[in-house]
Amino acid sequence: MARILITGGAGYIGAHTTHFLLRLGHDVEVLDDLSKGYAHNVPAGRLHQFRLQDQDRLAQLLASKPFDAVIHFAAFIAVGESVREPARYLANNTGGSLALLECLQQAGVHRLVFSSTAAVYGDPASVPIPESATLAPVNPYGESKLMVETALDWLARCTPFRFVALRYFNACGAIAEYGIGEEHEPETHLIPLVFRAIRTGEPITVFGNDYDTPDGTCIRDYIHVGDLASAHASALDHLLAGGHGGSFNAGTGQGFSVLEVIRAAERVTGRPVPFQFGPRREGDPPALVADSSRLQRTLDWRPRITALDDIIASAWAFDHHRFGPPGGRPV
Ligand code: UDP
Repeated sequence: MARILITGGAGYIGAHTTHFLLRLGHDVEVLDDLSKGYAHNVPAGRLHQFRLQDQDRLAQLLASKPFDAVIHFAAFIAVGESVREPARYLANNTGGSLALLECLQQAGVHRLVFSSTAAVYGDPASVPIPESATLAPVNPYGESKLMVETALDWLARCTPFRFVALRYFNACGAIAEYGIGEEHEPETHLIPLVFRAIRTGEPITVFGNDYDTPDGTCIRDYIHVGDLASAHASALDHLLAGGHGGSFNAGTGQGFSVLEVIRAAERVTGRPVPFQFGPRREGDPPALVADSSRLQRTLDWRPRITALDDIIASAWAFDHHRFGPPGGRPV
């Protein structure tokens, strides 16, 4: 049993990881300002609601028990918004993380798992992408995460601090028994928007069908959120066993196009997905697929839910839980 502080534990991936670690028997506290996440995502009695930059309260929380490690999810995640408001993204994501690191150093907490992103690679030259690929973000969101990775590297070089940064590809799906799922406001992610199109009859816009991919639409590596949660558990085990850490891709190694996701949603739900083609979305690379062999080798981790239909079925089960059967949702 380890004592773990999870920042951003009221958000989609953070809450799944919180539930996952509690079930493994760890002692977990959640820090979240609820600017994006939901209190109902956090198991009762675990939530501490304040901003990461509130150094006094953070120091108090860190002094409340001898934490073995921190998992740091808290961040803004909307790529388009980061292009419109770069200063706010850099201040929140990079600035907030640096404030956390300073407090951790003062409190003597030397182990951290960090939510990084495939956006650190920008527009990769080829896929699958190994960790050694060029790091060249094409938006402030990716840069805000890469700057934190750089800071983490320096701490690990200069002090006893050790970290694992997990570069997430496209997180999706849900774990039904936790009663939580993907729920962003506003929603920008493909799978929840596909379900919304099914429910409302309003077509979803597919961003671009003139990419250099087999069907012209973008290809992404969709990783089930339960597999991401288990990757965090493996990262913790690695660090707490004295592992060296570093940065790792977290994906399945399989790519699916937007149209393949839409067709899978039609198969799983038994309903047509109304869609239309629109222009490309700014900053969208044609294909992002992980080479996650380093994660698999070093952390002894394997993705378990890799069939696209299974991933989408788990997301659809949460959609039912949240909105009721199709047709029953007020729009
Ligand atoms: N996408 C789309 N229409 C939408 C939302 C997303 O065509 O309304 C596409 C998007 O261009 C990308 C893929 O779906 O190729 C996944 O996008 P999402 O926003 O879910 O995740 P991202 O890849 O930006 O992390």
